[in-house]
Amino acid sequence: GPAPEGSAEAHEWLDGYGRKFGHFINGEFTKPGKTFASTNPANGEELAQISQAKKGDIDLAVSAARKAQSDWEALSGYERAKYLYAIARQVQKHSRLFAVLETLDNGKPIRESRDLDIPLVARHFYHHAGWAQQRDRLFPDQSAYGVCGQIIPWNFPLLMLSWKIAPALAAGNTVVLKPAEFTSLTALLFAEICQEIGLPKGVVNIVTGDGDAGEAIVNHPGIDKIAFTGSTGVGKAIRKATAGKGKGLSLELGGKSPFIVFEDADLDSAVEGVVDAIWFNQGQVCCAGSRLLVQEAVEERFIKKLKARMETLRVGDPLDKAIDIGALVAPVQVKRVQDLMKKGEEQGAVRHQPDGAVPSNGCFVKPTLYTNVQPANIIAEEEIFGPVLVAMSFRTPDEAVTLANNSKYGLSASIWTENINLALDIAPRVKSGVVWINSTNNFDAAVGFGGYKESGFGREGGKEGMRAYLRPNWELKLKSLGKS
Ligand code: NAD
Repeated sequence: GPAPEGSAEAHEWLDGYGRKFGHFINGEFTKPGKTFASTNPANGEELAQISQAKKGDIDLAVSAARKAQSDWEALSGYERAKYLYAIARQVQKHSRLFAVLETLDNGKPIRESRDLDIPLVARHFYHHAGWAQQRDRLFPDQSAYGVCGQIIPWNFPLLMLSWKIAPALAAGNTVVLKPAEFTSLTALLFAEICQEIGLPKGVVNIVTGDGDAGEAIVNHPGIDKIAFTGSTGVGKAIRKATAGKGKGLSLELGGKSPFIVFEDADLDSAVEGVVDAIWFNQGQVCCAGSRLLVQEAVEERFIKKLKARMETLRVGDPLDKAIDIGALVAPVQVKRVQDLMKKGEEQGAVRHQPDGAVPSNGCFVKPTLYTNVQPANIIAEEEIFGPVLVAMSFRTPDEAVTLANNSKYGLSASIWTENINLALDIAPRVKSGVVWINSTNNFDAAVGFGGYKESGFGREGGKEGMRAYLRPNWELKLKSLGKS
């Protein structure tokens, strides 16, 4: 068929760099060092070679960030805001290129990268431009941490970058950010934008590479705060590594979030909610509604509706605008998801998948629903990070709360009912950082996001998110006391 819109532009952009990228340090791209391949998970095509950062690269990035920091923080909030606005505008200007690159590199449907990821990125920078202007007024006794090391996952590559960089810069920090090894491309295009708008050199540094590069950032003595989004296992290791070092830390980790459907819910809307909760981004969403809890009286009816809806989901080429479900990020993730599915079935879960075929070549997994799932089944407990939903039922609202909280995670929850009193009674009893009522996967730059229990530590977004990039400054405190 015809090449999807914007695909040629993305390939031209990659060709412009000879399909081989260095790091972005002190406002310049470095010469590529030892590299690894970044591939398109929908067809296995190699997109580019990405440099693996060594300790020396991290040293250079940290010293560039350190050198830039005091001048950056000394700018007025209004001046920092101007840069954040310029970034937001530039992201919008190049939004098609960003969306296509994101889809090529990650495998997510173009409809999602075009309509959600990239617009939310722009929104995050616009929103934080406001915080930059308000910093001195709202946090009169606080100053920036200094240099922040930021490590992000591959599921929302540019969006996670924006969640990290926008508040850090608004608060007056400079950053060394490492994208996930599967998805470095939009971070590198972002680096180009920093050049285009004339962001002072060293304020944003992007280093690429795998977990070893991440570890080198975590352990670098010149970094004042670490912000990490990724798996709970790595998050625990980072918390240990930073303990007693005086480094600031925030962690956004995994989840196994409940999606609770009460018998009086609008069942058709709730079915659409499930589609957004677990099949958005192939289920590779930390706050995915991956545990469906349905009240017994409507269970049969609801599951029947859901199965019918699953038949209409289209799985295939992520660049096709009509596609609902694209490719998982990499073969290793497909294997992980399939291994968990197999174990779940061995423990008695019954699998339902739509009949249609999916492309045989590429990282595709059909949307999957499991019934006959015991709460102790591995697929009811572990985060699968794929398009796999497990269904269980409850009789009373109290039972729903108990089931919902029966998890080591506590990132988000979604409650579906036409009875607002019931919703407002249940919401605070569910131990989750975010609770959505009759909606799901709703993100807003103004609202703090983060988890309880093993889902993390700290909040991103809104005032809480700004606070995470600031710390008390006694000189300023005394000044503000003197004034009052
Ligand atoms: P991951 O933890 O393997 O990798 C995340 C990042 O950490 C990558 O950049 C990776 O290179 C780096 N890394 C790996 N080992 C490291 C180490 N020892 N020290 C420092 N850095 C290291 O996770 P992933 O597989 O990329 O992402 C999936 C996980 O991320 C899921 O568990 C998901 O729930 C979680 N996630 C959470 C949120 C949230 O906001 N809570 C958002 C997105 C993803």
